[in-house]
Amino acid sequence: MDSMNRPAETDTNQKTDLKSLTREELNRFCEEFGLQSYRADQIYQWLYQKGVSGFDSMTNLSKELCTRLDEVAEVKRIKLYNRQKSSDGTIKFLFELDDKNRDKIESVLIPDFYPDGTPNRLTVCVSSQVGCIFGCSFCATGKMGFFRNLTHGEIVDQVEFINRVSEEEFGKKITNIVYMGMGEPLHNYKAVVESAAILTDELGLDLSPKRITVSTVGLTKQIMQLANERQPFNLAISLHAADDEKRSRIMPINESLNLEKLEEAVLHYYSRMMQPLTYEYLIFDNFNDSSEDARKLADIAQWVPSKVNIIMYNKVEGVELERAREKRLDRFIQVLVDRGVTATVRRSRGDDIDAGCGQLAIRDGKDRGKSLRKEGV
Ligand code: SF4
Repeated sequence: MDSMNRPAETDTNQKTDLKSLTREELNRFCEEFGLQSYRADQIYQWLYQKGVSGFDSMTNLSKELCTRLDEVAEVKRIKLYNRQKSSDGTIKFLFELDDKNRDKIESVLIPDFYPDGTPNRLTVCVSSQVGCIFGCSFCATGKMGFFRNLTHGEIVDQVEFINRVSEEEFGKKITNIVYMGMGEPLHNYKAVVESAAILTDELGLDLSPKRITVSTVGLTKQIMQLANERQPFNLAISLHAADDEKRSRIMPINESLNLEKLEEAVLHYYSRMMQPLTYEYLIFDNFNDSSEDARKLADIAQWVPSKVNIIMYNKVEGVELERAREKRLDRFIQVLVDRGVTATVRRSRGDDIDAGCGQLAIRDGKDRGKSLRKEGV
């Protein structure tokens, strides 16, 4: 286990957190504990399908076994710290982590409704890190800097918790998961891939990998690794500008991993996976919303089969960039459509509850972590 992915430590507790173990590691743990392999499967189901925390609740384990397990192991879970519901149905959660700093992360449940008001898609946006090192200028999480990676257990916990809320609020389980909350998912590669494996495991949450989308600012090495390992979930790239000059102004990562390198990684990804990808494009007023920007974006969208998701920006305090105006947006979309690009517009959700990335957490107050961020745009 590398140091970035090491589960958060507590001062005194030496017990093994079972949710920090991969399925393989849990099998090994059980074997060393003298248990037959079916016991590992049972415990795995209790952890991920039934969401229990105490060994007493694992009713198909004997009392004696539960007591023995309790002496050496524990099940850490994130705790709800705050919850806000928007008038459009979006629910934002702030969770407290079980670590010595009581770090906070946020997740969002975004419902889509049929015209008759019944729920259609129920998407959970999960965080993968506490803060983020990449310092994109439009992003509230980017202002915090980086504190630590989440474990795969902490990522899966967000989904499990929100799945229960979804059933209570909308009478239906979640349908989609996007790794687009706090943090850069591919900067926490191992935990993200492991969490997706649990979410799709039939003894875990048993979701289709096609319902999961991992988003990245364009970490080229990791994009290629996903392809080499044939990771089956969807990939989205946060582009947000279609030339190097503008992209570097709002996304410092572009200075080292520019569009030429991104193109190489995308071509490699498609050659292995043969599955289309999505470009996410936050559209800002008078910054990246001209016809010329749209033409450049259309060129990028033609590197490999892909679609473009235009996102209306949720204003972040202290950031000068503003949401594009509707008239310019319409013209922008028209240029893309004329060039044969499949483009959708995602209206921002939960404006009245600060549902933009990192907005709740940053208000909780904390020193700034490590960051590539420069002041500017
Ligand atoms: S947009 Fe994503 S990568 Fe950029 S700072 Fe925010 S969380 Fe990090």
